[in-house]
Amino acid sequence: MNDGPRHGVPAVIHQPDMTRKVAILAESARYDVSCSSSGSRAVRPGAVQGAPAHSGICHSWSADGRCISLLKILYTNVCEYNCAYCINRSDNDLPRATFTVGQLVDLTLNFYRRNYIEGLFLSSAVCRNPDWTMERMVLVVEQLRRVHGFGGYIHLKVIPGSAPELLERAGLAADRLSVNIELPSEASLRSLAPQKTREGVLLPMLRISERIGNIADNRRSFPVRTMKGPLFAPAGQSTQLIVGASPEPDRQILRLAEALYGRFGLKRVYYSGYIPVSQDSRLPALNAPPLLREHRLYQADWLVRFYGFQSAELFDDQHEWLDDQIDPKAAWALRHPDLFPVEANRASLEKLLRIPGIGVRSARRIIAARRFGPLHPEDLKKLGVVMKRARFFVTASGKFWNSTTWDPVRAERVLRGLEKSGTPRMRQLPLW
Ligand code: SF4
Repeated sequence: MNDGPRHGVPAVIHQPDMTRKVAILAESARYDVSCSSSGSRAVRPGAVQGAPAHSGICHSWSADGRCISLLKILYTNVCEYNCAYCINRSDNDLPRATFTVGQLVDLTLNFYRRNYIEGLFLSSAVCRNPDWTMERMVLVVEQLRRVHGFGGYIHLKVIPGSAPELLERAGLAADRLSVNIELPSEASLRSLAPQKTREGVLLPMLRISERIGNIADNRRSFPVRTMKGPLFAPAGQSTQLIVGASPEPDRQILRLAEALYGRFGLKRVYYSGYIPVSQDSRLPALNAPPLLREHRLYQADWLVRFYGFQSAELFDDQHEWLDDQIDPKAAWALRHPDLFPVEANRASLEKLLRIPGIGVRSARRIIAARRFGPLHPEDLKKLGVVMKRARFFVTASGKFWNSTTWDPVRAERVLRGLEKSGTPRMRQLPLW
């Protein structure tokens, strides 16, 4: 296969040197946040380099919370598409570069041997067409696995619209696959990414989830462990949603994420606050990415995945956006004063998990500890409860911690920072 430049694609013809390519394509990959390597415990048979399970899937996280242990890079940033929110859109004037398959394989191995990385996160713009790009990405991953015995973690981005055979090969070689859904509605896709369709994104997601399910069933049916068939995307699939480039409220975004978890068994939905990268009248005029909104969505997403909440519970017609002053669980609790306070010595795990300041671990500790005798307010702190928030909502042996009554108005004032934490309301009154 001819992997080199093609006549008629000038950005590919004038290729920068390797160092410059790495700089360009790593910089262009910076805007994709869906690169967590968590979740894989698989050890690939025959792997002679890289051992994700044995090393505990080494992560490191940058100051802004993003995974940096993988070589996160694009195959190319030459794009035929013109998505309004994207730095790599075809209209943008920026340095362009494209690897060859061999270059990217060598780069990954060199970085791995030097201990710079534990694996690879490979994405790409759409150069020429989805199949051309996807085939080269798949070849990189296949060569790493089959020619070089690379067993490190690989997260491969799927190019929507590429052939199902390429998706199949991708799933057999990579640990995690992801298809970026990008925008929360068909209307926004039409407006901001007219070359993409909702169906084009959802179809590969469906295929991946079906293949993961089929392979898991087949492997379960093998009587002997060593006879088990191949793995398909053993670390599952994820997606990325851009937040703030289009007008959909948080309610719609979280409902979509919940549907994606339920329908396709996604491991993660990554929310990426829109980074203003180009002037376009279709986009909101933001000075900075909406990081607080992104953070609140992650908190709400966590409640849906691990705390038994349904996204519909976190919103109503008056509250379509998550509260920017208080976290989603506290906001929900304050809208349901009739459900509080909860008595820690009697509440079920489900009820404990709904108390602000109580996490999964502390809820389980409460249930374990109360078998040995009744808990008192001071015990909750020792069990890991964040009393700064929980103290308004929970009693132990009928008593609050540092308070006497259930006072949702004061709770809200303190949680919103309108009243000093830990100070009884009486002391706030003027002395004259
Ligand atoms: S296809 Fe991907 S890389 Fe190309 S403009 Fe759209 S979002 Fe950017």
